[in-house]
Amino acid sequence: MVQFINIAHPEQGMSFPQAVVTGLGKGQGLLFPERLETLKDVQGLLEMDFVRRSTIILQHLVGESMAVDTLEGCVERAFNFPLTLKRVSARVYALELFYGPSLAFKDFGARFMAQCLAAFNAAQRTTILTATSGDTGAAVAHAFYGQPTIDVVILYPSGKITPLQEKLFCTLGGNIRTIAIDDDFDACQQLVKQSFDDSELVSTLGLNSANSINVARLLAQVCYYFEAVARLPRGVEPVFSVPSGNFGNITAGLLAFAMGLPAKRMIAATNRNDTVPRFLRSGKWEPRPTVATLTNAMDISLPNNFPRVLELGERHGLELETLLTSFAIDDAETITAVRDLNDTGYLADPHSSLAWKALQDNLADDETGVFLCTAHPAKFVETLSAALKQSISLPAELARVAELQVLSEVMPADYKMLRGFLLEGQRS
Ligand SMILES: *Cc1c(COP(=O)(O)O)cnc(C)c1O
Repeated sequence: MVQFINIAHPEQGMSFPQAVVTGLGKGQGLLFPERLETLKDVQGLLEMDFVRRSTIILQHLVGESMAVDTLEGCVERAFNFPLTLKRVSARVYALELFYGPSLAFKDFGARFMAQCLAAFNAAQRTTILTATSGDTGAAVAHAFYGQPTIDVVILYPSGKITPLQEKLFCTLGGNIRTIAIDDDFDACQQLVKQSFDDSELVSTLGLNSANSINVARLLAQVCYYFEAVARLPRGVEPVFSVPSGNFGNITAGLLAFAMGLPAKRMIAATNRNDTVPRFLRSGKWEPRPTVATLTNAMDISLPNNFPRVLELGERHGLELETLLTSFAIDDAETITAVRDLNDTGYLADPHSSLAWKALQDNLADDETGVFLCTAHPAKFVETLSAALKQSISLPAELARVAELQVLSEVMPADYKMLRGFLLEGQRS
């Protein structure tokens, strides 16, 4: 059953389970729903609880490729933490998506993908191999922790992530093994690529990358846009502002819109890595070298998911010209935004503050805005303390993690050593 097609090669189609297990289509093509129909009775959906409504939304997207009770079980186990909508001023709300185990919104997508992979691959041992520059590692590690048929190996650049980031995913043990590579992030990614090019290793270990372009992650993120609208006063159709790096989160918002989300329009807020805002203004795709900013989870000048945004316009008829705008906010403006927002009584991490700023600058008098809060402020204590000139205490959960022992192996960037390590883990 075809539900997802390869954007680069539309003749290639596959079912949802195939799309989740494969990850990418041929020629590195992104997979995307072939058809998008609007949901029936959106008003009725808005009255349901989060898990029930999300199951119906996902069912609509994956069709009959997954039994409803299997899907509902996956949703229940994936979305087992709260989310909230807080009012920060008269017409502006914060959608807080950071109450999962890695304290960032990536938990929604990573946990749903992990549940799906476990459901589709139950009979087969799988090894998830991935490289992280900080945040994705934690979401992936927690999402797969304790899954009986899945082993996880995460590479990261030794000494180049914050101690707290390291504690969040390198202290779990069990089926999660972490390796501190004595080199930079590019070297980690190179080692992962080399492993996937090694067909003997791929088949022996059942290697899977579980990376951020997997469709399961994208679909999961559609659900919280509906939750935001469900929590607003009935009839309010908000403007969403989304802090954007790889543009997965905003793609999910636009997908929700195509399915009938009662919303007015979307703002993609970027930092100085502004390929998309420039593209939307000039029509020219001119990426520049990536620059480091305070909002480092968004330091991306070649956003992986942008072809999916264009596909929503071209194949699915979304009017992107009216629906989507994009603005770049620099570090100085981000710091000011952290301060201004804190003055109103709301402390947000730099990424979320940047999205708030883009909303403040562009919200018309008769509009209501929602900005997505993608990380817990405690993950960025250094930046926030410096911006606000006051110390910020860690919440109990993080303070506990900060005390745990890091269990990582340390290894040079040497493929032979990594290969040996991976195969050895398989035998034990
Ligand atoms: C990943 C991330 C983003 C960017 O999300 P995309 O889906 O890649 O656009 C924003 N904020 C935080 C905190 C993140 O970890």
